[in-house]
Amino acid sequence: MANNVLQVGAVEITAILDASFSFPATAVFTATTKEQWASYPEYATGDRPMLSASMTSFLVRAGGKTILIDTGMGAKDRQYFPNGRLPDALAEAGVRPGDIDLVVVTHIHIDHVGGHTTRQGDAWVPAFPTSKHLFAQKEWDYWTAPGVAHARGNEYVVDCVLPLRDAVDIELVSSEHRVTDEITMLPTPGHTPAHTSYLISSAGESAVILGDVAHTPVQVTEGWSGIFDVDPVMAAETRDALMRRIAGERHLLVAGHFPFPGFGRVVEVEGRRYWRGL
Ligand SMILES: [Zn+2]
Repeated sequence: MANNVLQVGAVEITAILDASFSFPATAVFTATTKEQWASYPEYATGDRPMLSASMTSFLVRAGGKTILIDTGMGAKDRQYFPNGRLPDALAEAGVRPGDIDLVVVTHIHIDHVGGHTTRQGDAWVPAFPTSKHLFAQKEWDYWTAPGVAHARGNEYVVDCVLPLRDAVDIELVSSEHRVTDEITMLPTPGHTPAHTSYLISSAGESAVILGDVAHTPVQVTEGWSGIFDVDPVMAAETRDALMRRIAGERHLLVAGHFPFPGFGRVVEVEGRRYWRGL
C-alpha cells in the first residue's frame, strides 16, 4: 500500500499534500524560547528554529462515499502563504471533483477552506459544485457573521466560503454529527470556536483526524498553544484531553500539519506523551 494510504477497518484514508511551508517556531509559539525548541531538533532546526508544516487534506472512502476533509490553501496568490496544489494532487490520485460526494472541514481557516472555490473570470465559484458541503453550524455562524467575515485578515472567508451560499448544497450540522456509520465529528473547540476533529471507527480499528488541535508533533508532548489559536487556553485544554483519549483508546492519529502523510500514534513513555509516526 502506498505510504500515503491508511486502512482503518473498511475505511480508506488517503493523504493528499496541498502545500508545505515553514515559519520561525518562536514567532508562532510566542510563549516559547529558542532553548525549549532545542529539545526537538527533528522538528525545528537552526539558530532561529524553523518549523516546517505540511498542509494535507484527506480523502476518505467509507460506506461507498468519497469524502474530502479540508481543501488546503487554494490558488489564491496570498501574501505569506504558498498556493495549494490540491486539484493536481487529487488528479494524480485518480480523483475528479465530481467523484467527491461530500466536502467537510475541521474548521474555517485560510489553509483549510482555500480550495473550496476556484477562479472563474473575476469571480470565485465552487470548486466542487456537485458535492454536498458540510459545516458545523456554530463554526459557520461564527465566521460568516458580517463583522467577522469582513474583518481585516479574514478576506479568505469572502473568497472561499461566502461564494458557496446559494451555489452548492450546504448542510449545517451539530458538532457531534454522524457523517456516515463510520465517521463521527468530535467537537474540539479552542483553535476556532467550533473546530471539529473526526473519529473513524470500522471493524475494530479507529483513527482520529485531528485538524488543528495541534500543528506540530511537539504539541503532543508540550502544552504550547500558538498564535493561530483563537482561544489559546481552551485550545490547550482540548489538546490535552484529546491526546489523552487518543493514547488511552489507542486510536491512530491523522494530523494534517504534521510531517506528511501525518499518520501515527500517541505513545506514553514515563508519564509523557509523544508522537510516533507510522
Ligand atoms: Zn491549519
